[in-house]
Amino acid sequence: MAELTQTQELRENQDVLLEINNLTVVYKSDEEIVHAVNGISFQVGVKETIGLVGETGAGKTTTALSIMRLLPERTGFIEGGEILYNGMDLVTKPQNEMRMIRGSLISMIFQDPMTSLNPIMTVGDQIYESLEIHNTDNKTRQQLDERVNELLTLVGIQPRRKKEFPHQFSGGMKQRIVIAIALACEPQLLIADEPTTALDVTIQAQVLDLMRELKEKLDTSMIMITHDLGVVAETCDKVAIMYAGEIVERGSVEDIFEGKQHHPYTEGLFGAIPNLEEETDRLSPIDGLMPNPTDLPSGCKFHPRCKYCMDICREQVPPVYLEDGHMIACHLVVKED
Ligand code: SF4
Repeated sequence: MAELTQTQELRENQDVLLEINNLTVVYKSDEEIVHAVNGISFQVGVKETIGLVGETGAGKTTTALSIMRLLPERTGFIEGGEILYNGMDLVTKPQNEMRMIRGSLISMIFQDPMTSLNPIMTVGDQIYESLEIHNTDNKTRQQLDERVNELLTLVGIQPRRKKEFPHQFSGGMKQRIVIAIALACEPQLLIADEPTTALDVTIQAQVLDLMRELKEKLDTSMIMITHDLGVVAETCDKVAIMYAGEIVERGSVEDIFEGKQHHPYTEGLFGAIPNLEEETDRLSPIDGLMPNPTDLPSGCKFHPRCKYCMDICREQVPPVYLEDGHMIACHLVVKED
């Protein structure tokens, strides 16, 4: 593998919808500063799905909330970097512009559908409301109503049920409604934060199938946040492995499942890296705990848990290596001659 700078390695994909450069996010309170995301960079190509994978506390959801500019107002801060959407930097956008961007260009699906749905509004009205907020081409009420019917049909719910309330639907159906709302304005980018984790196993497969089908049909790009390797193998084109707010390995699904070299954290997570053809499983636990984000280790942040740790790992931040779009940040990587 060749050692490159982050800027060089980011020029791999020309057909880019979202480009994140050196994003750094902290949560601040009177008592402490939490370093949630530490200088990450990645791209999402047009019609591409990237999986953000890692344990709880790796910075996946903070990354998603930063893209949406939905960090907690008084405590969450983007301290550095760019979030370029079609070349426009979302970091510097005022919130009134972001309100228009959210929903119309970028939508997010959260883990628990009940937190996204209003329990006292019919599901039809909730989809209608989303359409109405972004109704820039002045569609009539009847046209918007027809679109509500289309969206419900698209996610496999009969339009006659639009007058019902969220509690009248099962968990899987509720997540379908959330997906319909997220897709209402045909966003170019959909961020799905563990969209099936709160659902029963049988329903998970149905919702994933639906998301895959819709992505194909609507040509949407997607960021899939997950800890489920089955979801990664089935839905993603690329994968970014996050640890302690950093991306430690990134590549195509084939690179991550079948590549010759891996970051030791990826290796540990995937339990010796399953084959793409094999039944995939959830991430395996790794000995030790994610470091305290208020007091991160020196050098490589994974060094206290790494079975290959060397002296240099405790002292120096690992360099970034890249070969054919497969990036690994580790002192152990075998360099090219
Ligand atoms: Fe392990 Fe060192 Fe690589 Fe970090 S840099 S993952 S400690 S071998």
